[in-house]
Amino acid sequence: MSLIVKKFGGTSLATCDLIKHVAKKVASDIKAGNKVVVVVSAMGKMTNEFISMAKSLTTAPDQREMDMLLTAGERISMSLFSMALNSLDVKAYSFTGSQVGIITTSTHTDAKIITVKGERLLEALSNGITPIIAGFQGVSSTKEITTLGRGGSDTTAVAIAAFLKADLCEIYTDVDGVYRVDPRIVPESKIIDKIPYEQMLLMSYLGSEVLHPRSVEIAKKYNIPIVVKSSFNEGEGTMVTNIENIESTKVNSISAKDDLALVNMKIQDMGLVKLLNEINEKDLKIELFITKSAENISLVISQDKVNELLSLVENFSNSLSISSDISLISFIGEGIAEDKIIIKTIIDIVSKYDKDVFGIFTNKISYTIVTKKAYKEKIVKEAGKKFELTK
Ligand code: ADP
Ligand code: ASP
Ligand code: MG
Repeated sequence: MSLIVKKFGGTSLATCDLIKHVAKKVASDIKAGNKVVVVVSAMGKMTNEFISMAKSLTTAPDQREMDMLLTAGERISMSLFSMALNSLDVKAYSFTGSQVGIITTSTHTDAKIITVKGERLLEALSNGITPIIAGFQGVSSTKEITTLGRGGSDTTAVAIAAFLKADLCEIYTDVDGVYRVDPRIVPESKIIDKIPYEQMLLMSYLGSEVLHPRSVEIAKKYNIPIVVKSSFNEGEGTMVTNIENIESTKVNSISAKDDLALVNMKIQDMGLVKLLNEINEKDLKIELFITKSAENISLVISQDKVNELLSLVENFSNSLSISSDISLISFIGEGIAEDKIIIKTIIDIVSKYDKDVFGIFTNKISYTIVTKKAYKEKIVKEAGKKFELTK
C-alpha cells in the first residue's frame, strides 16, 4: 500500500464530466489498496476569469479581497470532486487550505507556506476518508486567507506530501510530462523520463510553468518524488527526483520566459547599493541584474512590475530607457556552462541577433540569454534541433 498525493490542474477539472473522469481514476487507485489525498486547482480558466472580473471593477484591486475571490475557485472544484468520489462509493471530504492548517506568510496573492498543521487531514485519513484539499491557498498567522501565487496548487500538493511523508506526489496535467523544450514553442519536443530536482527547479524558475517552482524546492528539501503525467493519456510521465548524475555533459532542456521588460538606467550619486536595498524592501522580483558599472545597470523584470520599479527608481536615476517584449532563453544541463563546445554552439545560434542580445547569465548547470521576444521561437527551435531535444 502506498500513500499518494494526487494533484489535478484546471484543464483536468474543466467540466463536471472531466471531474467524474479523474474521480474514477482516483477511486480505482483507492480500491486497489492505496491511500490517496487529492489536491485540486480551480476548474478550467476560472482563476483568470475572477481576475478579469476584479479588474473590470477597479484597476488596483485590494489584495486581501483578491485572495478571498481567488480561493473561491478551488472551493468549487474540491466540493464537486468530493461529490463525484462519494457517488463512486469512496468516502471523501473536502477541506479548504485553512481547514487543513496550511499556515502561510501574510503576503496576499504571493504567500509562502510556513507550516502544515494537518490535524483534520490525519483525522480523515485515520477514519478511512479521502481528503480533497483546495490547492493554492492557506491562512496567515493573523487569520487572513492567502494564496500562493499563480500555479500554486502544485506547491500545496508537495507540501501536503511532505507533511504526510507520502511515497509519491503525482501532478496530473494537460501534457504527457515535462518536455525538453516548452511544447507551446516546439510541439514535437521529446519528453524527459527522469530529471534531478536541481534541473527541474531551474526549468520552472526560468519559464517552464508545468511545475510551480516552490513545489520543486519543497520536494527537494523533503525528498518527495514528483511524477508529472497526463490526466487524459496513459503513460509514465516524468519523474522528478534525486538522481545521481550519470549522464554526460549535454543540454538536457531549454526553457523560455516571456512578458519581461529590460530597464536600463544611469544611477546618480553612487546610489546602487541603496537602490538594491529598496528593491529588496519592496519585494520586487528582479529576474536579472546586469551591472555594467556602479553607475550603469540594467534590470530584467516582469512587465507588470515595471511601474512599481519606476516609481522607486525615480529617486536614483534621471536617465533611463525601457525595452518591453523581452525574453529569457535558458539552456539547462549538468556542467554545460563549462563545456566549450556547447557554449560555442549556443553562441553561434544567437550570434545572428547579437545586437539584440542584452545579457548572459550563467551558473554551472544553466546558460541564460536575454534577448527580444521576437527571436525566441527561432532560437529555441534551432537550438532544440542542434541539441537533439526535438523529434
Ligand atoms: P495545470 O493547470 O495542470 O497546472 P499548467 O498550465 O500549470 O497546468 O502547466 C501545464 C502547461 O505547462 C502545459 O500545458 C504546457 O503548455 C506548459 N509547459 C511549459 N513548459 C513546459 C515543459 N517544458 N513541459 C511540459 N509543459 C510545459
Ligand atoms: N487556480 C490557480 C491558478 O490558476 C492555482 C493553480 O491552478 O495551481 O493559478
Ligand atoms: Mg499548474
